[in-house]
Amino acid sequence: MNTECIFCKIIAGEIPSQVVHRDDNYIAFFDIEPKAALHLLICPIAHTNDFQQTPPEIIAGATSVIQNLAKKLNIENNYTLQINNGADSGQIVFHLHIHLLSSDKNGNKKAKALTI
Ligand code: AMP
Repeated sequence: MNTECIFCKIIAGEIPSQVVHRDDNYIAFFDIEPKAALHLLICPIAHTNDFQQTPPEIIAGATSVIQNLAKKLNIENNYTLQINNGADSGQIVFHLHIHLLSSDKNGNKKAKALTI
């Protein structure tokens, strides 16, 4: 855990968030300022600053988390993934996260129902 990191604090339960998925290695929660009807962030539990510094297997492991979430939310044909890497790209939180964005309002409702 990086004690300065806001997403580490979410993972530790020190800052509240709407979590829709958690396992030993990944967490997914609602973005606090959604840029689409549904906007989730998928993060590894282990802190890495950004995509550039993240071991490939951690990125690979996030794939099935995202695919399973998309199935559960019934948005398999309607989502976009985004990773901002580095301050110049617009990255503001330096704990790797993958944005999952969908225009599907039903997916949003389902995600709310999944909140744990
Ligand atoms: P990025 O620009 O890729 O670093 O995106 C960081 C994202 O984190 C932004 O979309 C923010 O809205 C989101 N964010 C910042 N603080 C929180 C928080 N406490 N809970 C959920 N999302 C957050």
